[in-house]
Amino acid sequence: MIYKSTRNPNNTLTASQAILQGLSQDGGLFVPSDIPRLTNNWQELANYSYQEMAFYVLKEFLTDFSEDELRACIQAAYDEKFDTPIIAPLVKVGTNYHLELFHGPTIAFKDMALTILPYLMKTAAKINHNESKIVILTATSGDTGKAAMAGFADVEGTEIIVFYPKEGVSSIQERQMLTQEGQNTHVVAIHGNFDDAQSKVKELFNDPVLREQLADHQLQFSSANSMNIGRLFPQVVYYYYAYAQLIKAGTIQAGEEVNFSVPTGNFGNILAGYYAQQTGLPIGQLICASNDNTVLYDFFQTGTYDRNRPFELTISPSMDILVSSNLERLIYHAVGEDSKILSSLMNQLQEEGHYHLESNYQVQLHDFLAEFASQGETLQEIKEVYEESDYIMDPHTAVASKAWRKLQDREEVEANPTIIISTASPFKFPEAILDALTVDRSSLSDKDILEKVSQLTGLDYPPAVEHLLEAPILHNRLVDVASMKDEVLDILNLNKGK
Ligand SMILES: *Cc1c(COP(=O)(O)O)cnc(C)c1O
Repeated sequence: MIYKSTRNPNNTLTASQAILQGLSQDGGLFVPSDIPRLTNNWQELANYSYQEMAFYVLKEFLTDFSEDELRACIQAAYDEKFDTPIIAPLVKVGTNYHLELFHGPTIAFKDMALTILPYLMKTAAKINHNESKIVILTATSGDTGKAAMAGFADVEGTEIIVFYPKEGVSSIQERQMLTQEGQNTHVVAIHGNFDDAQSKVKELFNDPVLREQLADHQLQFSSANSMNIGRLFPQVVYYYYAYAQLIKAGTIQAGEEVNFSVPTGNFGNILAGYYAQQTGLPIGQLICASNDNTVLYDFFQTGTYDRNRPFELTISPSMDILVSSNLERLIYHAVGEDSKILSSLMNQLQEEGHYHLESNYQVQLHDFLAEFASQGETLQEIKEVYEESDYIMDPHTAVASKAWRKLQDREEVEANPTIIISTASPFKFPEAILDALTVDRSSLSDKDILEKVSQLTGLDYPPAVEHLLEAPILHNRLVDVASMKDEVLDILNLNKGK
């Protein structure tokens, strides 16, 4: 299979090359030239382990990896780093199912792909006889940064640099990043929001002078953001796995549709659901759930994408975003893979901050429903589900749960079971949990707050937070957006005497 850029169909690469490069140099994202159709013998798939399902799905997308190489990557990624051998448990909560994607080392769903990405990248380097050191450059709204560093820490032949918004992440998220070990890991806080970090990172990727300068030193950029296909396709796996669990339990018959409600930020998770559907997974509706940053909700209602609006800081920081990068891929498919139309929309977004998708293309998006949950509604939802089902959701998951609740009476939603994609452990956002359950935390220490969440959930701390409060702070860089390039050069030792 060949991957081509959304902005120019002549820019093509193999899967392994696309993983190494991350983004296309024309500013576009890589998409598969043909989306494979899987045969889906559900009697068989129902008994697959997570690893077997990963192989079943990924071999269709990463076609220049040998079967042995792919199996080795999968085995190395989905092992005891996860706190359950099931990897992605499906839990019944009320009338819905929650697909818990937070059992990995950093207790957020980013682990589902970032545990495998380093292995895919090393293998891709081998396949292409790539001798350069790979410099992973990543913007994070909190979860990607930690998960990517945990994955790449001390991986030979790589260096990783993470930028995060100083005021835009939770205290646990920040602490997780600042305590990251590994000689090759670098964390930089910026004065600005996630969009500022992400657009600057994209600019650095597409800076030809910088690219040359790196090449002169046997260095090459790649991305750990969900723009990288090595992030995207491992995320297709859990949609299949969740469906297979419902078949196994006898909840649905093979071929019956299910809905997924997905707490959405950069549109990577839900886009993986779209690709799962396109490969033949029976998905009815994909619910795109937003927080107070309703740019995607508004887009799905009106066809107009408009980032000219205030950036809201919320209790679901990993969804605080106004430019959802992966939406570009969906738009590309919606406009009939016409890269001219797509490019003109994206250029308009870049220059004017908005674009409008004509209604004849909007109809292509019929399997998506969009909703949002305000801050108040999110807190309320955590409380309501706790009282009904004795189950505590993190604030991101609560947004998806509330979005479903608002849409549940619609015919197309009501018709199918709904799976809520659960993207983070409540231990990652303990303050929000206590606020939702109206527990006064004004006199509680950080440790007491975690203890309290432990009592309420009846669960022990995950290993990820257990030592966090005592771990030494190892990073202290803080810069303006304008200095991000200099910071990269400084970290790579490239800014002295050229
Ligand atoms: C990243 C993240 C999201 C948003 O996922 P996208 O793929 O960016 O849409 C939602 N919840 C949590 C906890 C996350 O870390």
